[in-house]
Amino acid sequence: MTKVSIVIPVYNEEACIVETHKRLVASCGNDPSAVELIYVNDGSRDRTQKILRDIAQTNPCVKVISFSRNFGHQTAVSAGISYATGAAVVVIDGDLQDPPEIIEKLVAKWREGFDVVYAVRESRKENIVLRFMYSLFYRIMARLSYVAIPLDSGDFALMDRKVVDVLKKMPEHNRFVRGLRSWIGFKQIGVAYARDARVLGESKYSIMKLFKLAYDGIISFSFVPLKMVSVAGFVISSVAFLSIFIVLFFRIFTEYSIPGFASTATIVLFLGGVQLLSLGMIGEYVSRIFDEVKGRPLFVVDELINF
Ligand code: UDP
Ligand code: MG
Repeated sequence: MTKVSIVIPVYNEEACIVETHKRLVASCGNDPSAVELIYVNDGSRDRTQKILRDIAQTNPCVKVISFSRNFGHQTAVSAGISYATGAAVVVIDGDLQDPPEIIEKLVAKWREGFDVVYAVRESRKENIVLRFMYSLFYRIMARLSYVAIPLDSGDFALMDRKVVDVLKKMPEHNRFVRGLRSWIGFKQIGVAYARDARVLGESKYSIMKLFKLAYDGIISFSFVPLKMVSVAGFVISSVAFLSIFIVLFFRIFTEYSIPGFASTATIVLFLGGVQLLSLGMIGEYVSRIFDEVKGRPLFVVDELINF
């Protein structure tokens, strides 16, 4: 019998976790030789760890990795994947927005011979602004990225052991797991599903965290922002160069000279703005390089249960 590992990152999910576990067991069973449920407690400050301990005590198929603090969703996912022992690994949110019943469909496709089966959100139930932002992000990402990342697919996916082994060897700290997964290749396929609304607890992704994720995605998988900086520089210098000629022409060959404190100030402000923006863009890349170079461990484990 081949074992499937299921990785569930959880952060302050005391409201959901019992229900999540019930539905996971209902759809995947709890035979430790067939399934392994790895909960990654990402430094929760509520009763999540206590509830997980209780669940793990009575369920031999449950394993718990507990971080020393909050390291972020992508890191929690990576940690779970690196501890997984199954022939395939499924990543699923712990808040029931990804219905556990879909796992069966992912596994079926895997048995047909696919190495990565990702769930594609056909619909989602967040508010309209957020939905628009998500949709916009995936479309910008598709334009900019040098790997083809499928539209509207998140971390909810199944990966074969050979994909997992490559993923584990990728040491990057600013992890955009769905991008890395696409980068690896092999036979990939999508399965459509309807993403549920969050019923229990509330989203742990603040707007800032979402922006960080979007930035990580774009900067880890695209050089377009850097190229845009040089293109902008080139265009603006060309315009400036031309205007010098025009100004000189009027001054020398005609009796008019172009007056204008206002226009000078505008140009200076404009150039200052573009320069700051460009520096900021470069800073985004540099800060990530710095982060990688430091080579700190991805996460710190506080407690392991049932390993
Ligand atoms: N999560 C995590 N660490 C974090 C933020 C979120 O492990 O720093 C978990 C969270 O418990 C949930 C999953 O990641 O299981 C997705 O988070 P959430 O539902 O809050 O994000 P959303 O669905 O709103 O994008
Ligand atoms: Mg959610």
